[in-house]
Amino acid sequence: MMSLSLGVDIGGTDTKIGVIDDQGAILAQTRFATRPDRGAESLADEIVVNAHNLSEIDGIAAIGIGAPGPLSSKDGVIFKSPNLAGWVNVPIRDMVARRLDRPAILENDANAAAYGEYVAGQRAGGDVDGVQRGDMVLLTLGTGIGSGAIVGGEILRGCHENASEWGHMIVVPGGRTCGCGQRGCLEAYASAAAIASRFEKMSAKDVFAAARSGDGVAGEVVEEACRCLAIACVNIQHALNPDRILFGGGMSAAGDFLLACVRRHFDALRWNVHDDFPALELARLGNDAGMIGVGLLALQSGDDLVWGS
Ligand SMILES: [Zn+2]
Repeated sequence: MMSLSLGVDIGGTDTKIGVIDDQGAILAQTRFATRPDRGAESLADEIVVNAHNLSEIDGIAAIGIGAPGPLSSKDGVIFKSPNLAGWVNVPIRDMVARRLDRPAILENDANAAAYGEYVAGQRAGGDVDGVQRGDMVLLTLGTGIGSGAIVGGEILRGCHENASEWGHMIVVPGGRTCGCGQRGCLEAYASAAAIASRFEKMSAKDVFAAARSGDGVAGEVVEEACRCLAIACVNIQHALNPDRILFGGGMSAAGDFLLACVRRHFDALRWNVHDDFPALELARLGNDAGMIGVGLLALQSGDDLVWGS
């Protein structure tokens, strides 16, 4: 029998739920407004109602929950998130598992998206099945910069479960202050919000469009963002030596224009002692990556699944 999971992706604005099969296909899906101000109990109740509307819960083997961090996958707890105002130490995994009487896991949404791209993204791109998948890093360029790394087929977590925060890699020492308090983070230069903040009444999309049509000021801001992304890619290369670095999130809609600019800076900055460079590519699953990834993770978690207590 085909194994099915529920992939639940809790975002600051919307929560998405999908029935996911073991190939990463979405068999059914829905979404609703998250409303963090109503509290975690209310959100857990709403997840349950939507889950029952989507599928016979008896046919669901496991539930994967993706959420913005910082959080602990091990403990199933969201510590505190700028995107979920007022939530402190919420044991969301057990809350949902108990209500649906199914085992569950909790994963950082950026890690989940990376895992989704790693397993299902290649397939979506038409790559040959069964091809050896090398280590991969995903940079999600949105309001902030989320990121995840897959090393040896596993999510890279670190001792305190905060590895792979590439958005907070310092790319300009002493540079602009980031929302996290550090100065010179990648996120302070290359996120959509950082790019838009340099202009009045322009979105990152507008800035890219202006740069494309030859506007000098917009062009400089885009060049700076791409150069910072390229610095990050060189550093990631030396830290992990991955096969691929993917760009996802809203800003990746700039597509080949973005990719060509980052590649140009990457080629100018990288070392020349060995040609072990990662391929720089666009992500393929769009906004579904987190939901698919966390659903796949739930199906593969085995002993790590928790029934809730
Ligand atoms: Zn930062």
